[in-house]
Amino acid sequence: MPICASVSGKSLNSAKSVVEYARMTNEETKRDFIREWIAADLAESHKEAPITRFPPEPNGYLHIGHAKAICLDFGIAKEYAQQGAVCHLRFDDTNPCKEDVEFVNSIQEDIKWLGFDWGEHLYWASDIFDFYYECAVHLIKNGLAYVDEQDRETMRAQRGNLTTPGVHSPYRNRSVEENLAQFEAMKAGKFPEGGAVLRAKIDMASSNMNMRDPVIYRISYDHHHNTGNTWCIYPMYDFAHPLEDAYEYITHSLCTLEFENHRPLYDWVIENCPIPAGSRPQQREFSRLNITYTVMSKRKLRQMVEEGYVAGWDDPRMPTICGMRRRGYPARAIVDFCEGVGITKFNGNTDVARLENAVRGELNAHAERRMAVLKPLKLVLTNLPDDHEEEVEVVINPEQPELGNRKLTLTKEVWIEQEDFMVDPPKKYKRLSPGVCVRLRGGYCIVAKDYVADAAGNVTEVHAEVLPGTIGTNPPEGIRCKGAIHWVSAKYGVKAEVRLYDRLFSDEAPDANPAGFLASLNKDSLTVLTNAVVEPALAAAPAEFLCQFERTGYFVADRYDHAPEHPVFNRSVSLRDSWAKMNK
Ligand code: ATP
Ligand code: MG
Repeated sequence: MPICASVSGKSLNSAKSVVEYARMTNEETKRDFIREWIAADLAESHKEAPITRFPPEPNGYLHIGHAKAICLDFGIAKEYAQQGAVCHLRFDDTNPCKEDVEFVNSIQEDIKWLGFDWGEHLYWASDIFDFYYECAVHLIKNGLAYVDEQDRETMRAQRGNLTTPGVHSPYRNRSVEENLAQFEAMKAGKFPEGGAVLRAKIDMASSNMNMRDPVIYRISYDHHHNTGNTWCIYPMYDFAHPLEDAYEYITHSLCTLEFENHRPLYDWVIENCPIPAGSRPQQREFSRLNITYTVMSKRKLRQMVEEGYVAGWDDPRMPTICGMRRRGYPARAIVDFCEGVGITKFNGNTDVARLENAVRGELNAHAERRMAVLKPLKLVLTNLPDDHEEEVEVVINPEQPELGNRKLTLTKEVWIEQEDFMVDPPKKYKRLSPGVCVRLRGGYCIVAKDYVADAAGNVTEVHAEVLPGTIGTNPPEGIRCKGAIHWVSAKYGVKAEVRLYDRLFSDEAPDANPAGFLASLNKDSLTVLTNAVVEPALAAAPAEFLCQFERTGYFVADRYDHAPEHPVFNRSVSLRDSWAKMNK
């Protein structure tokens, strides 16, 4: 049974509740109503494979919402790849504007990084302006479109509303010849912008406002990146989109829910225009992805970039795909998250913790462990000789025992975290304090004996003794090792910059803030530590190397700023969800 049998209504015609849906596994959610519909349609039409498309407007960077659409459009094509399915990448550039090469390149890079490929199927909607024009002329010739020379306000007033039918324009019954001549005049630049539009002649009394003689062509004298000043008339989205789909022989055109009411117009265009023989695209709608503590609109993301609230589109706090990449979110985690959220017909708000957990899960399984000290405190092992050097082994990833161990050099002086030593600790403190024994991970059990403090009482150095023979074995009877702490050799450690990123907004719904979304910005979303020390292997790691800093979190070597002589690491996600704890 299809999960959602309803194709026109907004109601979910399903036995499953929202909660049940949320609990569904990825494999289950993959059988969503869109996939059910496609499978049924292919069977009925005796077609082997769907052809889908992803149609971004090249006016910004892709965000995690786009990732959901990409996973659906490209994902479906992948599932039918054996049967010859493909997903087209189509730049929807029918609005005159300067092409931004930066956006075009980043969109392609992001899709590939997510693991999808359009092969040779890269299209530009602006390449077929002639085709839209032919279709418009065809409609005019069939008495299905007319040039309206009224101003915009008048036309708006004539549209009526949900309870009142619209009023016919005085231009509605112009002759075909007159319409052809006036449309030609529009094209020839005889009208000013707003001086005339081409409208489809459908039904001014339709209960669907989109069917009340919608505008399908408008005049604009702006420069177009592809066609320059060749055209001064441009097709509207609702007219161009179905024609783009038809031209490319798209079978199933998937878009977000706000277009559901536009579907009758989509179908009307397909039925009434001279589209290529054998082409019959159909549109279906699914809910947009919204995430808590996040804004998703391109306009707002651009504003944050332009006004300097973030360092750029790929700032690791941004919900853009390149931002998440720079943050160290693995592509696999993003795809898993999108698939897990599933495809439904109700707009909801997905908890950002779910995304963070997908990242955590993926990194826990696959990220190698390393040691880094973020806020260093010197620890001197007083009973080792000054030139002591000893190789010790630590496990690469307990989740992947087959990877084995890696080697570290233990020296007389090491760095530990400031917070791993307390002079006067509370009872439950499982770290180092005077007289207490802990293990240096992979190394000896040690007992703190003494410390040095500055005038203000801040501890500046800790002195401890190693318990000989305790590497890999328990300390002697009567000594309890409280826990293990991480460390980095003072001799071999490399100074590094560590950027601790947190959520960009401290408010669950920044868009709902009456003071504006910017008022919800989290002031502590970035902390830069410049005195961190990392084990030498981390300095040598390539850019984008992902790992767990033991006990601290998951980190990635910055894609652009990391260098052996100046290591830079970004925190991808903490080991545990500290927000959940805080909210409790
Ligand atoms: P925005 O509202 O952020 O400006 P857009 O819809 O204008 O996004 P497009 O470049 O036109 O951006 O989007 C390309 C495709 O991505 C469209 O098919 C659109 O439906 C889909 N898409 C955009 N945002 C989301 C989202 N939040 N969830 C799911 N799909 C989305
Ligand atoms: Mg759009």
